[in-house]
Amino acid sequence: MAIATVNPATGQTLRTFQPYPPDAVEQRLARAEQTFAEYRLTDFEYRARLMRRAAELLDVDQETIAKLMTTEMGKPLTAARAEAAKCAKAMRWYADRAPALLADEHPLPEDVADSGAARAWVRYRPLGVVLAVMPWNFPLWQVIRFAAPALMAGNVGLLKHASNVPQTAVYLEDLFRGAGFPEGCFQTLLIDSRAVEGVLRDPRVAAATLTGSEGAGRSVAAVAGDEVKKTVLELGGSDPFVVLPSADVAAAAAKAVTARVQNNGQSCIAAKRFIVHTAVYEEFKAAFTARMAALRVGDPMAENTEVGPLATQQGREELTELVADALALGARVEAQAQLPTELGEGWYYPPTVLSGITDQMRIHHEEAFGPVATLYRAEDLADAVRLANDSPFGLSSNVWTTDPAEQERFVRDIQAGGVFFNGMTASHPALPFGGVRRSGYGRELSAHGIREFCNTTTVWVA
Ligand code: NAP
Repeated sequence: MAIATVNPATGQTLRTFQPYPPDAVEQRLARAEQTFAEYRLTDFEYRARLMRRAAELLDVDQETIAKLMTTEMGKPLTAARAEAAKCAKAMRWYADRAPALLADEHPLPEDVADSGAARAWVRYRPLGVVLAVMPWNFPLWQVIRFAAPALMAGNVGLLKHASNVPQTAVYLEDLFRGAGFPEGCFQTLLIDSRAVEGVLRDPRVAAATLTGSEGAGRSVAAVAGDEVKKTVLELGGSDPFVVLPSADVAAAAAKAVTARVQNNGQSCIAAKRFIVHTAVYEEFKAAFTARMAALRVGDPMAENTEVGPLATQQGREELTELVADALALGARVEAQAQLPTELGEGWYYPPTVLSGITDQMRIHHEEAFGPVATLYRAEDLADAVRLANDSPFGLSSNVWTTDPAEQERFVRDIQAGGVFFNGMTASHPALPFGGVRRSGYGRELSAHGIREFCNTTTVWVA
């Protein structure tokens, strides 16, 4: 994929970049290593001051960076502004909380009494240079949710961003530098994905985090495994959205639409499979399909647009094939929004609801990365749990029920990294984020996220 800004709303290439040559990559690796040697010795107060300054700069830049994100990957401008604001919030959260999250841990004296130690404790130390391979779908947020905790912990970052968001990638380096972080604390590498392996194998790189597709995750994890380097993988998802009879069905249907089409349907934690108890199936279907069909699709720069174009032409082709496969095998279109005729050459895809899904269809097992919902009828609670788990992924889940016993059943049985009741999945700095199964491993955000790239060091004193 060329490193270029191509506007998804028009298909026009606006700017192209040459990948960094090997000597430029080498220079940045050397700088990262040198910077880490000193930066790791800085205290939390210093790092927090810089992180808060970066948050302030991001607030000032909000409109500019929001427009850039919308230009590069097509998310509605209103959502892009919210993404920038969320990033500033997470930066401040880690600036405030890192000292407590990474404070020395002292086990209870009676627990270590027979260890021979007069004193023993745990120190969280930074790992070093961490490579972040990131996707385009939340081009600021995915990076900040790695960078804010990693930098607060004393690590330094190298960013290999998706090839279609190069200007956002460059902006991120400028942001941290502009906030006063030492040169080399956070650097962008404009490189092709084929160059990732060389960087990851470099002995100066300690660890990697990847947010993206299963294929990219597999290849980065294989190289990291070969090098025995720590990885965190945040991969795809096909989250269930379960509606049971005790739910407020109208509220569930309204939230289901947002959960499906947020970010033009291109969110890992978007609800993708809608599993509805037979007792409320018709009621939910009527409300959900009416709302999906009424969505305003259009220019993502327009303030009232609810769904913009898909980010890439290839993404639209893949989604089109997934739907065609389902239709050929008997799926039905329950609803489809209209695409305004004046939209032109952009990579738009109409919000669509499919029913009659079987396990012969690819869409039953694969991630629909765009505004297409699949609707399933569950016979009872056990059937709903079975269907919810009938996916290779396990990122998050949404369950609508007010019955505590049903909630407990999902907390116990759902194979996912999260379960959100009577709402939709959303990330929050204080709550861990990540999946199981093909959705990856490790956690971002919260105390769990900041500790992923720490050397949890046992200190034992006789
Ligand atoms: P992608 O194609 O996997 O790209 C993600 C990043 O990996 C890009 O920087 C890409 O670079 C790089 N990459 C691709 N193949 C690689 C390889 N073989 N070795 C090393 N790097 C490689 O994914 P995407 O299309 O940008 O994003 C969509 C996917 O990300 C969806 O599956 C979505 O669910 C998932 N996602 C997961 C989360 C989560 O938190 N779990 C969040 C957001 C998105 P190039 O652009 O240069 O190819």
